[in-house]
Amino acid sequence: MKLRTFGAALAGVLLTASLAACGGGQESTEATSTETTNAEAKVYSIATDTAFAPFEFTDESGNLVGVDIDILSAIAEDQGFEYTVNSIGFDASKQSVQQGQDDGMIAGMSITDERKETFDFSDPYYDSTVCCAVAADSKVASLSDLKGENVAVKTGTQSLDWAKSISKEYGFTMTEFADSDVMYQDVLAGNSAACFEDTPTMGYAINSSNVGLKIIAEVDSTSEFFSQYGFAVKKGENAELLEMFNTGLAHIKANGKYDEILAKYISTSADATTAASTTAKAEATDATASDATATDSTDKAADSTDANGEAIEEVDNGEEAIEEDAAA
Ligand code: GLN
Repeated sequence: MKLRTFGAALAGVLLTASLAACGGGQESTEATSTETTNAEAKVYSIATDTAFAPFEFTDESGNLVGVDIDILSAIAEDQGFEYTVNSIGFDASKQSVQQGQDDGMIAGMSITDERKETFDFSDPYYDSTVCCAVAADSKVASLSDLKGENVAVKTGTQSLDWAKSISKEYGFTMTEFADSDVMYQDVLAGNSAACFEDTPTMGYAINSSNVGLKIIAEVDSTSEFFSQYGFAVKKGENAELLEMFNTGLAHIKANGKYDEILAKYISTSADATTAASTTAKAEATDATASDATATDSTDKAADSTDANGEAIEEVDNGEEAIEEDAAA
């Protein structure tokens, strides 16, 4: 995925080579001068996760697609900047941006106060919570049933932080995985009793990708683990990229492109969660335009909670379990 960046570097080599050859390289010189003009405008390198559908994932044709990928593309087009995408995993993206190997990241990344110490975030573009899921036929019905069990968590994520924060209380141990899909497989294989994941992604896997898991607990919008996704750059770096992202995001929200992208990935008839989201979202759009942003984020939080009727009942049980234990 680093191909274009590499291409630009290669063009530089070609230029040197053709100058050294003193002619004879007319074609490559022409190609080179075009590249050189483009290279004057920075080509941003953007890191992302590997398998975090519907935000970034590989489709049947082997293309990296998803909400994040399309949002980035629409914003880049709106703002007229060039970029390459580097699909390396979530924790790897964070490190890569911190080390300056990538200029920014879009990876369903939650905006948190802790991360703000090392990253600068864009305006939020999606609301999320974290959840716990088990195999569809599992006897584990609530967090309390995880006593003595081992669960799967994803390195460097908020869902891991949530799991960690309640692991003593519920008496479970954790194994870390770098990728969401591998984590799901570990639960399906019966190695882990449960996994912890962002709710939109878990819901999509269950409802759209028929992954045989079910959600048994989810934090609500009052939890510290309720979050909003943002595009991120290393703190103090690439301010112009961040500004373009924010301006472009506002534009694609205003011109309908943002809604179009969400509908493209999150509204198949097979997906109860997403069908509900889409309806609620349409209503939110119809509502008074005045405090659109505030309403929007509140409604979207409600979406994910109301989303999947069946799952939510169990989710409520999970929540009660948390409250009971907290009260006890
Ligand atoms: N939203 C979660 C976080 O930021 C997980 C992101 C991901 O796994 N791509 O921690």
